[in-house]
Amino acid sequence: MFKKILIANRGEIAVRIIRTCMEMNIETVAIYSAADKECLHVKLAGDSVCVGPYKAADSYLNMDAIISAALVKGCDAIHPGYGFLSENSEFARKCSEYGITFIGPTPEAMEALGNKAAARRIMKEAGVPTVPGYDGPIESDKKLEKIAHKIGYPLLVKASSGGGGRGMRRVNDPSELVSLYKEAKAEAMACFGDDEMYLEKLIENPKHIEFQILADEFGNVIHLGERDCSVQRKNQKLIEESPCMFIKDDLRKAMGKAAVLAAKAAGYTSAGTVEFVLDDKGRFYFIEMNTRIQVEHGVTEMVTGIDLIKEQIRIAFREPLRIRQRDIKISGHAIECRINAENPAEGFRPGSGKLSFLNVPGGVGVRVDTLLYNGYETSPFYDSLMAKIIVHAPTRLEAIRRMRRALLELVTDGLTTNGDFDYLLLHHPDFIKGKYNVGFIEKHAEEILTWDMAAARLKADE
Ligand code: ADP
Repeated sequence: MFKKILIANRGEIAVRIIRTCMEMNIETVAIYSAADKECLHVKLAGDSVCVGPYKAADSYLNMDAIISAALVKGCDAIHPGYGFLSENSEFARKCSEYGITFIGPTPEAMEALGNKAAARRIMKEAGVPTVPGYDGPIESDKKLEKIAHKIGYPLLVKASSGGGGRGMRRVNDPSELVSLYKEAKAEAMACFGDDEMYLEKLIENPKHIEFQILADEFGNVIHLGERDCSVQRKNQKLIEESPCMFIKDDLRKAMGKAAVLAAKAAGYTSAGTVEFVLDDKGRFYFIEMNTRIQVEHGVTEMVTGIDLIKEQIRIAFREPLRIRQRDIKISGHAIECRINAENPAEGFRPGSGKLSFLNVPGGVGVRVDTLLYNGYETSPFYDSLMAKIIVHAPTRLEAIRRMRRALLELVTDGLTTNGDFDYLLLHHPDFIKGKYNVGFIEKHAEEILTWDMAAARLKADE
């Protein structure tokens, strides 16, 4: 097994990876920017190296500094976490040039899937259902209009290199097509340095359902069931759960099979996620594949009992998967709430602060992955994700009640978070019934924000 792993990340995911390494008796090296000297991941790792000043471009994205740190410290592998360099094929290549194992897929698979239009083509060819649309060249406004007419409105223009909802626009009718297309294209160029675009039919009010997969280097690919990530604000996930209460065994089988097919078609290895939109008639369509460990992987770990980071490390060490599809049993229900340093009353505007008092929830069936500790001053330079509260219970209703209880226990004096908003949201009758889709927050946020914490408790959920 690897002797020493450098974790090329920060925050809760770096802490999360260190935990598994400790259980596997693998030594750890943390990296940090000059702004992050006091971070929890630095305190928990066996060793640490400063890789640059506060700007991510000069530190957490500084490939040469990170690889030098790994070499100087004698690391045989690098775990990139999510974000930063996790989906950067150039970094994966550089690691292998220096004889360091990159814990993730091959650079080739990353490249094939990193371009979303190209990924769509691979999936269509392999027989994975994709959203009706167009991913070929668009030479003129006239051609654009023709293609859009054929697809039908409303539709989405999307950037091939897009992520986090950027470079994406909803187009409702032909009159706004050209201007929104140009706007999205310019945004894509500014954010990703690439303005290749494609079009997709807009699936009205879909659920965002994603399947966790694991694939080894010996052709074994399995899926670990789904996550419903439809509670989103600004196209970003806020609450995730597994399983999705509306997915019956037949549909789960069909979607799981498509997810495994998708991974095989891309020659994928490591842990990965195949994302689908699911319409209200039970039709599902591939939208993209994420080639990293996801923020929300914890809900899958809770219902399957499988440590996904451990599996990633074993796969990277070229071990065959020890788990077979028939061994995967989904037990009970898990929900995750992301706790961000942000203010829901101000359109979820991110903020920062110093924790004068912190209470982390605990008790039966509660897991908290966080970078927070008492006295910690959060940094405005990086992601606003501060903690993930994940609960597990025998049924969905019990999991909802457990999460509400955990959120009441959470105290972050000195730091504004969306914790209370999540608490209130978990009392919304449509959430309780599971009747929600990607438009849920947009539709209900204002109403939820008028609720009173004490009164919310009186809302019936039986
Ligand atoms: P990004 O990589 O920028 O996050 P995705 O392609 O994953 O973009 O889409 C983000 C979100 O947008 C999805 O979770 C889903 O809610 C919505 N979405 C994407 N494609 C479609 C579609 N064709 N129809 C309806 N909603 C979609």
